[in-house]
Amino acid sequence: MSLTLSSAHVHTTFCDGKTPAPDMAKTAAGLGFVSLGFSSHAPQDFDPGYCIPPDREEEYKAQIRALRQQYEGRMTIYLGIERDHFSCASPADYDYFLSAVHYFLKPDGHHTPIDGRPEDLQSYVNDYCGGDGLQMARQYFAMLRDDVLEMKPHIIAHFDLVRKNNAVLHLIDEESPAYRRAALDALRPLRETNALLEVNTGAIARKKLSTPYPAPFLLEAWREWGGEVIVNSDCHDAQYLDCAFDEAEELLRSLGYAHAVRLGKAEKWERYSLL
Ligand SMILES: [Zn+2]
Ligand SMILES: [Zn+2]
Repeated sequence: MSLTLSSAHVHTTFCDGKTPAPDMAKTAAGLGFVSLGFSSHAPQDFDPGYCIPPDREEEYKAQIRALRQQYEGRMTIYLGIERDHFSCASPADYDYFLSAVHYFLKPDGHHTPIDGRPEDLQSYVNDYCGGDGLQMARQYFAMLRDDVLEMKPHIIAHFDLVRKNNAVLHLIDEESPAYRRAALDALRPLRETNALLEVNTGAIARKKLSTPYPAPFLLEAWREWGGEVIVNSDCHDAQYLDCAFDEAEELLRSLGYAHAVRLGKAEKWERYSLL
């Protein structure tokens, strides 16, 4: 049994998830969760299959608020969104939001998904980065850094998302000092925003990676800078709602974290012990 008993990064059939919101809440209650935060992909004006359709945003809010009432006293349900850098939606109406970068914007106005088909990312690297994966990673980190500094989210989602397709394409040497420096330099200024750095197990559930985002060297630096972390499953399918939480908690302990932060039952954000 893991200690986290919550996930603030959960998708449903309102966006690209497989599980309807009521079924996800039922699974969370069955696992003894203290809280559950829904975080559908915020509306955007491209790649419509991926996000909440703009004309269903109010329905999304209403359904999550109804679930909050239904589970009151048992498990606290929060209304959040995962807001992509290129989203047109405002996070103002939500209990919390995650900032994420899932796309590169090409000069022709189209977007290339970063964690979509490997061949699309490879084409972007060939066409716009001179074939250099490190240059692509630098572009990605700079976009995420600027987005977090501007939007000031509660949570920084999957900080090193480029690792997903790198596991297939091998565009970047993730052990190289140059890559590590690029990632650390982008992460360092985000500490001052007091955002939570997400330990995201979603790629483990989807069998794309064997370890969470972000890599241990980033989590280690974040702790040295006094940063706080939140363990999330980025769940798209209820059967993986707490997937690999034990491993994530063990990793955090091994890096010297004594506690993490989660959505609380009473308070919005609460610390819980990892020891
Ligand atoms: Zn995401
Ligand atoms: Zn997500």
